Amino acid sequence: MRSRLPHAILLCGPPGLGKRRLAEHFAQSLLCENAGNDGNPCGTCPACRWFEEGNHPDFRLVVPEILAIEAAMAGSGAEGTADDDAGAPKASRAPSKSIRIDQIRDLESFFQVGTHRGGRRIVLLYPADRLNLEAANTLLKVLEEPPAGTLFLLVTSRAHELPATVRSRCARVDLARPDTATLQHWLAGQGVRDPVQALAEAGGAPIPAATDDPAADIRAMLLAGLSAERLPDPVALAEKCEKAGPQNVCLWLARWISDLIAANAGGGVRYHPQHGRRLAALGAGIQAAAAHAYYRKLMRARRTADHPLNARLFTEELLIDYARLVSARS
Ligand SMILES: [Zn+2]
Repeated sequence: MRSRLPHAILLCGPPGLGKRRLAEHFAQSLLCENAGNDGNPCGTCPACRWFEEGNHPDFRLVVPEILAIEAAMAGSGAEGTADDDAGAPKASRAPSKSIRIDQIRDLESFFQVGTHRGGRRIVLLYPADRLNLEAANTLLKVLEEPPAGTLFLLVTSRAHELPATVRSRCARVDLARPDTATLQHWLAGQGVRDPVQALAEAGGAPIPAATDDPAADIRAMLLAGLSAERLPDPVALAEKCEKAGPQNVCLWLARWISDLIAANAGGGVRYHPQHGRRLAALGAGIQAAAAHAYYRKLMRARRTADHPLNARLFTEELLIDYARLVSARS
C-alpha cells in the first residue's frame, strides 16, 4: 500500500493476534527516515527513536482513557484499580471505556500544525469499536474530508460494531490467524517454555500466550483448587482470588466449565489439556443442563464484572455455585 496509501485503513482480525503491534510497526515504518527495502523501520534514526519513546510529533495514539491508565500503571509497576474504584463517589469518576468525542476533536490542532520535515501524519485508533456514537460521527466528518498527508489506522477485532458509514471510508485489511504449528514455533522463539500449553490456555491467541500474565500465580492456584480431589472452601478460595479481579476469575471459570462441558459430552478439552483426566472424571458426573446454565451465568457475570459492588462477594457467589454444580453430580 506504501506507494498509494489510502486515507484510512481498517485493520481487522481475531483478538490477541498482534493487530495493534502491526499497526504501530507500520506507522513507525512510514515515519522512519531510513526504512529498509523490506519496509521495516531502521530503529535508529531520530524518527524511530521518538516513536519508540512515544513522542513522535506526527503520531497520535487514541485509546479509551481506561487503557491509557492501565498502560501507565503497568509502566510504574502499580497494581490493580480496585482501590480507586471503591473510593470513587460517582460513576462519572470512573475512567471511560470509550473513545470520546473530545479525543477526536483534540486532533484538530494536530491536523493544523505542519508535519516534521513535511512528512506524514498518522492517527492510530485502538480499539476502533470503542468509538462512541458521537466520536464516530465526528471522525466520519474528518474522513469525508481528510487532512492532506494524514493516515488513519483503525484497529479492531469487532469491525461489525463500527458504523457502516465509517467502515465504508476505510480500506479494509483482514488478518487471519496463522496455523497452530506456526504459532507454537513463534511462541518457542519468544522464550515461552511450553508453547502448546500456553497457546491452549490463551484460547489460541498468540499475544496473551506470549505475555507474562501478572495474575498467572492466582490462576494456577485457582486451577489447582478446581482440579483437586476435594474442592477447597469457596469462601477461602474467593479471598485468594481477590487480587486477580472478578473479570479474570469469570474468564478462568468460564474456560474451566467449557472444558467440563466438553468432557461431559465425551469430547476433548480445549483450555486445560494438563487436567484432562481430572476434567473427564468430573465431567462424567455433572448434569449437562446445570453446567450450561452455570456457563451462561458466568458469561452474564463477566459483562458486569468491571465494577461489582463487592468483588470478593461476587467471586464467592460464583465459586459457591460451582461447588453446588460439582457436588450435585449423580
Ligand atoms: Zn528509522
